[in-house]
Amino acid sequence: MRKTGSQDNRRVCSFCGKRQQEVSRLIAGPDVNICDECIHLCNGLLVQESAPTAQKPAIVHNLKVPKPHEIFDVLNQYVIGHSETKKVLAVAVHNHYKRLRQSMHFQQGDPLFDVEIEKSNILLMGPTGSGKTLLAKTLAKVLDVPFTIADATSLTEAGYVGEDVENILLSLIQAAEGDIARAETGIIYIDEIDKIGRKTENVSITRDVSGEGVQQALLKILEGSVCRVPPGGGRKHPQQEYIKINTTNILFICGGAFVGLKELIQRRVGRGVLGFVDQEARKGTLRPFGGEMHPEPEDLVRYGMIPELIGRIPVVASLAELSEDDLVRILVEPRNSLVSQYQKLMAMEGIELSFTDTALRELAKLAHKRGTGARGLRAMVERLMLEVMFEAPRRNTGGTIRITKAMVDQQRVDPDSVTVELKAAS
Ligand code: ADP
Repeated sequence: MRKTGSQDNRRVCSFCGKRQQEVSRLIAGPDVNICDECIHLCNGLLVQESAPTAQKPAIVHNLKVPKPHEIFDVLNQYVIGHSETKKVLAVAVHNHYKRLRQSMHFQQGDPLFDVEIEKSNILLMGPTGSGKTLLAKTLAKVLDVPFTIADATSLTEAGYVGEDVENILLSLIQAAEGDIARAETGIIYIDEIDKIGRKTENVSITRDVSGEGVQQALLKILEGSVCRVPPGGGRKHPQQEYIKINTTNILFICGGAFVGLKELIQRRVGRGVLGFVDQEARKGTLRPFGGEMHPEPEDLVRYGMIPELIGRIPVVASLAELSEDDLVRILVEPRNSLVSQYQKLMAMEGIELSFTDTALRELAKLAHKRGTGARGLRAMVERLMLEVMFEAPRRNTGGTIRITKAMVDQQRVDPDSVTVELKAAS
């Protein structure tokens, strides 16, 4: 019997449980359905099983490794400020991908043949909205590798309610459209790594009490191992078939605001204990990278991170809080800047949009005061433009509009502020 339209709408993938509306294709069989995402994953599983060995990471022949200055230049197009941090990232990421190709450069017998270049996972510390996620995302774009973002606070060690750490890998495989070899060269950004400290005070019953279990689980995938991922996500169970993925070449970038770490460092420096260098002694010594926070590993341990995990994240860079000037630049300079995005939206209504310098400055000032970094800018501009964006398609008159400081102060642009050139009557 043919199914009715409403029954069709209720169709779900028998593998992952997603509804028809949530996927691009849902193929229905007599008793089961499968969505395009699960088909990709199963395909990856089959390809992997037929490969001679899934234990070894793929040798990457076709990956183009941009030079550090090229990576830096692209980061500059999207990310404002953090110049030193961008340089650190450019070098670390270049070396990481160069490492994937080492076997193509050295033959057996070469004295450097057996030297193993270690992976340079990265820790980015900086206030919220300063561009940590944007940096990681842009790096993946430059390298054209799969990318995914995970939130450390939603992760749990196996057996607890929440997301298994391996599910991060599943989402990377999905980003690689089921191509395991490609996923094995991807980048994973783990946000809020600072919130899974050992001595967290925000203990919730849905998470393991210490956070240490999650760190241990992360450690396993960060250091490089073959992980078994349940294809449909969710919990593992014994009869399940798994996708095997080797994490040796996956680059992990961990990010966090590390609120309170600065004070911890200051206290340590004040006490003059290990790691202390006074201003004079600092001259000529190695200066830590970028930003404002310059922790020693023991500061991070005191903050609640386990030493083994710190040991697996050798590149540490910190981002300074964005200044008001940075925020003004963020509004207009990056490719995809907020202003150009709204200009494009308005241009599609035949409206030419511009902002006065004082309006831009005011937006930056307000965002800075709120302390939400550049993240606050988007919400502010969206609110400002709401009524014009609501009315313009209805009126369909085209015209020009210039956003002023007064409009920013009122948090509203009157749709009547659009100047329409009178067209000659036909
Ligand atoms: P974080 O991860 O540090 O909390 P995000 O990278 O998520 O911050 O930033 C949120 C948004 O703010 C980004 O998507 C981007 O639009 C903007 N943004 C933040 N920092 C910058 C920056 N330095 N340069 C350009 N845009 C930025």
